[in-house]
Parts: sequence; C-alpha cells; structure tokens
Amino acid sequence: MLIDCPACKKKISDKADECNHCGFHVTAVDAEAVLRKEKMDKYIRQQSLQTQSFIAVLVFITGFGFMYWGQPEVGSTQHSIAMLVCVIGFVWYIINRVRILLTKRSKVFG
Ligand SMILES: [Zn+2]
Repeated sequence: MLIDCPACKKKISDKADECNHCGFHVTAVDAEAVLRKEKMDKYIRQQSLQTQSFIAVLVFITGFGFMYWGQPEVGSTQHSIAMLVCVIGFVWYIINRVRILLTKRSKVFG
C-alpha cells in the first residue's frame, strides 16, 4: 500500500521506515495519520462530487421542465436558454460521474 510522504508528498510504501525520496523518517503513527487524512480527503471529495452531480441533475431537470411545460417557441431566447441549461446540466452530470468513478478506482487504498 502506498501513502504520501508527510515531508515531500511523494508516494512511499507504508511499510517503509523512511522515505526513499527525501529520507524523512516515517513512524507508524505518522503513516497511520497520513492514511487516515487521505481517506478523509477522499471521502470529502466524493461527497462533494455527489452533491455536484445532484445539483447537475436539478439543473438538467429545470431546463428540461421549462422546455416541456413552458413550451418556448423554437428559436426564441427562452428556448435557447432552456436548451443550454439542459446541456450544461447533462455535461456537468457526466463529468461528475466520471470523476466519481476515477476517485473510486484509484488504487491508493487497495
Ligand atoms: Zn519524502
């Protein structure tokens, strides 16, 4: 398993006593604390991405709902805005899904 060296932030083994990049002495306590912090950071990042995909869905639904119920005239400004809002919501959602997948797939914590 790899952790970030507390001193130089390069990837080192959690089994190593000292960093093989900068020679920083990593105690078991340090390694554990770093690991815990990274897990927490990852969790917060995932939560934030999930919140963002939720907002993206709301944005998409808003645009779509306006198109569906508002029936703006094709070519009108309202129609263009509704289309734009739909596209932004959709693209934002896809980007967030990909980022969540990438976060989950990172092998740092096995
Ligand atoms: Zn180091």
